[in-house]
Amino acid sequence: MSSLFPNYGRWPIRIVRGEGNLLYDDTGKEYLDLVSGIAVTSLGNVPPKVKAKVAEQLDTLWHCSNLFEIPVQEQLAEKLVSLTCGDRAFFCNSGAEANEAAIKLARKYTQKVLGEPRYEIITFTQSFHGRTLATLTATGQDKVKVGFGPLPEGFVTVPYNDADALQAAVNEKTCAIMLEMIQGEGGVNPADAGFVERIKQLCSEHNLLLIVDEVQTGIGRTGKWFAYQHYNIEPDIITMAKGLGSGFPMGAIVGKEKLAEAFGPGSHGTTFGGNPLASSAGLATLQTMDEDGYLQRVKEMGAYLQVKLEELARDNQEIKAVRGLGLMIGVEMKEDTAGLVAQMRDRGILLLQAGPNVLRILPPFTIEKEQIDWAVAVLGEVLAGAKEAAASK
Ligand SMILES: *Cc1c(COP(=O)(O)O)cnc(C)c1O
Repeated sequence: MSSLFPNYGRWPIRIVRGEGNLLYDDTGKEYLDLVSGIAVTSLGNVPPKVKAKVAEQLDTLWHCSNLFEIPVQEQLAEKLVSLTCGDRAFFCNSGAEANEAAIKLARKYTQKVLGEPRYEIITFTQSFHGRTLATLTATGQDKVKVGFGPLPEGFVTVPYNDADALQAAVNEKTCAIMLEMIQGEGGVNPADAGFVERIKQLCSEHNLLLIVDEVQTGIGRTGKWFAYQHYNIEPDIITMAKGLGSGFPMGAIVGKEKLAEAFGPGSHGTTFGGNPLASSAGLATLQTMDEDGYLQRVKEMGAYLQVKLEELARDNQEIKAVRGLGLMIGVEMKEDTAGLVAQMRDRGILLLQAGPNVLRILPPFTIEKEQIDWAVAVLGEVLAGAKEAAASK
């Protein structure tokens, strides 16, 4: 019996080592990593440049309180501000905490700075925003909420990509709209350009804050630093986490200058957020992506992977759609993909699901064309095998 709570449906393999695009289990078996720890290890496993910077920091200072100024945290904030439309950063330790901070900031700005009694946040069906009480309430999937009531007030969920439903939901209590530009856990669903345009109009007409949850899409995953940059918008708050620290746990929000007054001294905080170790991992990750031209690589490899998958889809009726941007790709199948993921794993290729019917592919940005070719070929073989098995029944 395990000493761990059984809250994860774990795969029956023990990963003990990683190197670049490969992972190894405790029997020495090698796997091609098309999961990246769920969009975390974007520079591959144990990326040398980040490792060198964190090792330097390990020798210097691990932690010091946010009661002090922390130069490396300040540098990381400057870098994030330079990459976004935001002006100020706050650091925390996870995606859920980043979204919590965004929710608190939106409410406090509206209520204390604008002096208006609005607090409601509109989110969307199939969204995923985290597992804390507020962020699971914000999440547009009932399965994460069951049994955890009472849930906090002030969240409304409307159908994703339905601008009329959104417009109908805005009322005198609404203070913000929170969305993923491409829903990750919900099935790799991109927001339509027209829908985003209407969101922009509604925010400006009703003085609402726009929060984009870039916990999965941020830090280069879609081929731009942030997925909102594929659209013609400037969010008020951007939340991020997964890819920020190359595997070092950290989260952040970046927001507009007007919000700074709402987060004055003592208003919000966390012990570990942006500590020297985490900040050095974050800064080294961003610098490496910048210096080594990774955004361009994500675009090229992402386009290559999509073309290969579309070729496969032409010969396979089971594949309904291939979608996504950069190296965040979903393959929608006619049926549940759990068995497919398990067979791929047996063949040495790690993939994810995003909801029952969608295969989610989140390779490290260091992925090679030959590795993509191999993975798509094996997927084709596994699909052909499934067809044969079905035919011989
Ligand atoms: C993973 C994820 C979260 C939650 O992040 P944690 O670090 O697990 O708390 C929130 N939003 C999105 C879009 C995510 O993909």
